[in-house]
Amino acid sequence: MPDTQHFREVLSQFDWTSAVDILLIAAVIFTLLRIMSGTRVMTQLRGMLALFLVFVVLGRALDLTVINYLVENSVTALLIGAAIIFQPEFRRGLDRLGRTGVSGWFTPARYEDVIDSVVKAAGRMSAEKHGGLFVLERETGLQDVIETGIPVDARVSPELLAGIFYPNSPLHDMAVVLRDERVVAAGCVLPLANELPAFDRNLGTRHRAAIGITEATDALTVVVSEETGDISVALHGRLTHVPDERGLKAVLEWVLEPGTAANARAGEPPV
Ligand code: ATP
Ligand code: MG
Repeated sequence: MPDTQHFREVLSQFDWTSAVDILLIAAVIFTLLRIMSGTRVMTQLRGMLALFLVFVVLGRALDLTVINYLVENSVTALLIGAAIIFQPEFRRGLDRLGRTGVSGWFTPARYEDVIDSVVKAAGRMSAEKHGGLFVLERETGLQDVIETGIPVDARVSPELLAGIFYPNSPLHDMAVVLRDERVVAAGCVLPLANELPAFDRNLGTRHRAAIGITEATDALTVVVSEETGDISVALHGRLTHVPDERGLKAVLEWVLEPGTAANARAGEPPV
């Protein structure tokens, strides 16, 4: 049978270099998927891929000349387009690979120190009515925002965070961005919220900025009001007031460490 013969021919050409070839391509695809998994990119790419497959299937099944032509000639353009559009996410993935190595992908980020530092710093700032804004980066890369500020790149600690927002310190204005256990930058300018709920219409710019960055990304922000000392948390475009340090800790643990035993026992999410 000609088909079997063709198959045998292909197999006879298979040597160790073909195995290396396949392994390298598999590694590249795995790496790309790992970089993007759980991110906004993945959802959007899934949608694009589904649409593309519909075109491929329809084009082939109904023999649609124009659709077939477009499908055959658009793959390279689509790959380059995706690389440009999703550049921040790729950068973040590669950055994480550089810092933690491959093992970093299999062990989720540990937020214990970050939570402890943010809670203590916010508590102290609240008591002294020092305003401040912390942005905790999660899956969506915040490189664009980080580049508006001043690089810090230091390990997180309550003293460092409270020190940055000490009135009149050179870095106290705007927001601090945290990535994993590091303070990446200070003085970062965030996008302001577009729409505010009716009861929040008179919020100032610090609170608008805290909400704004969570509208387009999965970041979590913690804001301490200079006027009232109140602590609030924003996530997915919603701002929630937390009564005290314990409340803040509960919210941060709920969002950042969803798999922990304490969270599994608790009922509804605090935000
Ligand atoms: P507070 O309760 O602390 O007074 P607020 O919500 O009333 O906060 P403002 O009084 O307008 O807000 O706070 C001004 C401060 O907000 C600025 O000094 C600056 O540090 C911060 N801020 C303003 N715009 C931005 C922005 N785009 N990104 C990050 N921080 C910002
Ligand atoms: Mg104000």
